[in-house]
Amino acid sequence: MTTSSRFPYAELQAAPRSPIKPRHKTREVAVGSRVFGGNNPIWVQSMTTTDTFDVEATVAQIRALEEAGCELVRVTVPKAQDAHALSAIRQRIDIPLICDIHFDYKMALMALDHPVDKIRINPGNIGGYDRFRQVVRKAKDRGIPMRIGVNAGSLEHELIEKYGYPCPPAMVESALRYLEIAEAEGYHSIIVSLKSSDPATAVESYRLFAKYADYPTHIGITEAGKPPYAITKSAAGLAPILMDGIGDTIRVSLLGDPVPEVAAAFDILQATGRRVRRPELIACPTCGRLAIDLEKIIAELEKRLEGRRLPVKISVLGCVVNGPGEAREADIGIAAGNGKGVIFRNGEIVRHVLEAEMVDALLEEVAHWEQEQRQKGTLKLEDEKPTRTRLPVVSA
Ligand code: SF4
Repeated sequence: MTTSSRFPYAELQAAPRSPIKPRHKTREVAVGSRVFGGNNPIWVQSMTTTDTFDVEATVAQIRALEEAGCELVRVTVPKAQDAHALSAIRQRIDIPLICDIHFDYKMALMALDHPVDKIRINPGNIGGYDRFRQVVRKAKDRGIPMRIGVNAGSLEHELIEKYGYPCPPAMVESALRYLEIAEAEGYHSIIVSLKSSDPATAVESYRLFAKYADYPTHIGITEAGKPPYAITKSAAGLAPILMDGIGDTIRVSLLGDPVPEVAAAFDILQATGRRVRRPELIACPTCGRLAIDLEKIIAELEKRLEGRRLPVKISVLGCVVNGPGEAREADIGIAAGNGKGVIFRNGEIVRHVLEAEMVDALLEEVAHWEQEQRQKGTLKLEDEKPTRTRLPVVSA
């Protein structure tokens, strides 16, 4: 390449090569058995859709969420009878319980009489700074952390007038104002959310907030609607936030049954490389060059790897166009061609196999890889700090 090129190749060579940005440094805040922030996992949470006062129905839904892997759960508390149910619910579940309060600060004070693990307040509708201060004082006395949940749809009128509409700076100013009040009370057990149904507004709000504060954040795209579009929309907003290293707990908001929210959240964390929980399978879409029955092989691999918590990246491509390149970059990979293939482990060719042997052979290589990683002490299972920096996504 000549030195007179109009493109900055020298600058490119000096550019950072790892695509992974470090996590935004946040302070740690304990929420029951979970610690938010710092290097702790990005916890997955959801919210019940039952009447909270219906303890049986609420506990049953929380149990279903727990079964799906949900790590914290929020229940709404619009009435006194809902607040009165909190102790009974808390006793019967195994994950931290969050009470969700809108409009009535007295509900917040009432909820705080129960052994909840966190309280969520919407500062824009709680009734002003003095009422917020009263809730903060009681939360502090009870040792209960709080989420200050700013929402574009219920921003204070004063800020709407100042900024014209619920834009990122308006949302961040709202959060910072309430943080200052809480800090003046000596209360720092705070998590912040800046949700919008508009992904771009949410992304920029979280980015802006991260410039000014080190409180952990709860991330989400609010009112995302009905799946499957809601999952895509959530991913569109949450991925840039996560890839910027922001976010300490996540909720994917889906219309209807909350249980699918859990798998969607874990998928987004996996795809962004922020919390890898299962093997990552790389497969091409197939085309006229396809040289093996890729769909069958991937289906079989998925079935036989189901439930495995292993941070292994497996690449299976349908022909020689990208097969060898992807296989070399994955932990285990196969480059297929005409009913047979070459298997790579850690970038090196380890064996040649026929198509009929591919799945068994790949799984054997996964076992070898796992053994090697364990011997070297480099295997990082779920919830441990990621050590890989070269590849953007490796499933755990
Ligand atoms: S890897 Fe081969 S078969 Fe798969 S999409 Fe690409 S060219 Fe087609």
